[in-house]
Amino acid sequence: AKVDNPYEGAQLYVNPDWSAKAAAEPGGDAVANESTGVWLDHIAAIEGTSDAMGLRKHLDTALQQADGKPIVVPLVIYDLPGRDCAALASNGELGPEEIGRYKNDYIDPIRDILQEYSSRTNLRVVTTIEPDSLPNLVTNTSGQPGGTPECDTMKQNGNYVEGVGYALAQLGAVGNVYNYVDAGHHGWLGWDSNLQPSANVMFEAANASGATPADVHGFIVNTANYSALKEENFSVTDTVNGQTVRQSEWVDWNQYVDELGFAQGFRQAAVSAGFSSDIGMLIDTSRNGWGGSERPTGPGPNTSVDAYVDGGRYDRRIHVGNWCNQAGAGLGERPQASPAAGIDAYVWMKPPGESDGSSTEIPNDEGKGFDRMCDPTYQGNARNGYNPSGALPDAPLSGKWFPAQFQQLLKNASPPV
Ligand code: BGC
Repeated sequence: AKVDNPYEGAQLYVNPDWSAKAAAEPGGDAVANESTGVWLDHIAAIEGTSDAMGLRKHLDTALQQADGKPIVVPLVIYDLPGRDCAALASNGELGPEEIGRYKNDYIDPIRDILQEYSSRTNLRVVTTIEPDSLPNLVTNTSGQPGGTPECDTMKQNGNYVEGVGYALAQLGAVGNVYNYVDAGHHGWLGWDSNLQPSANVMFEAANASGATPADVHGFIVNTANYSALKEENFSVTDTVNGQTVRQSEWVDWNQYVDELGFAQGFRQAAVSAGFSSDIGMLIDTSRNGWGGSERPTGPGPNTSVDAYVDGGRYDRRIHVGNWCNQAGAGLGERPQASPAAGIDAYVWMKPPGESDGSSTEIPNDEGKGFDRMCDPTYQGNARNGYNPSGALPDAPLSGKWFPAQFQQLLKNASPPV
């Protein structure tokens, strides 16, 4: 039987591939023993490649690390057809119509391997299901400011919903697998116009392709994103000179100002949509620390809502829609179980030091495109309010090791390392 919170009383798997890269960096020893997500980001990653261990090897290594005691192995399921429909940096190997290959060549082999290990009851496999996919169906289709033809295609052909449903059904049937569906972050889905609609789309996917809502153990927010965990210098109910901070440019009428509030709010929306009241949330805190010398030490001045919010916020992005290799970011809370009400764990699902996308075009055979949100000279698009990208320069392809980013994350860690 599955436990309520797989993180409770368990140690966390340390991926030796990531750990070695972190440890080889100056100062990296301080975090090299943290647990980070294992991204199964293309079919060949399941068996392993010359520079990354395969799934069986990870599970065997986890069993060694566990020495008979409970251990959580965090996996990221990330290979949908037409992947990353509102951006280019993480486009994948499968075309929009290749749902058959997704099922047969990607999900089924993962399921079969996990099934082989299902009798090892101290293994608790946590899956992050398909980052960004369902949220893109909600906000990035026609008729919306950020709509793209690629997301329209994925909405029309139904392959995101079908693929997510299939992943949930197949992986959820394995006795020691815990599925967490990706639910964006507060700066994406925190508005009245998209919060409940997103939870409803997730409920639809949880009833597709043989899945049932019981295949969903919970949701993960802020995967590979930078939204602050807790903005302590202002809250969404504050006012300045009679004006709500929701009216500030930064908050822009959002109902949430940080990830902890959003995760708890999304949990309620998911229960309203029909999910069990037992669901738990994960928050990716790999890169939302925003510490270092620029971190505000108190609220901003009470001269205007903008001065008050901008002077006090920890999240120092130019715009909350910026997502690629953000300048100024730091490591956030270390992975830990049961940190707050409704939250199963803080996790480092995005491995710190791995790029979000290249700053210039780099030819490759992984299907990855060049997204100008990763170019520091780009002036933006409708999804970030036409603001500069805020990205670091000289970044390699998404997923590749990016030493300058790792160093920045160490330097700006909060809590400090
Ligand atoms: C990339 C993946 C990579 C993951 C973790 C994503 O942005 O597209 O290939 O595995 O980040 O670094």
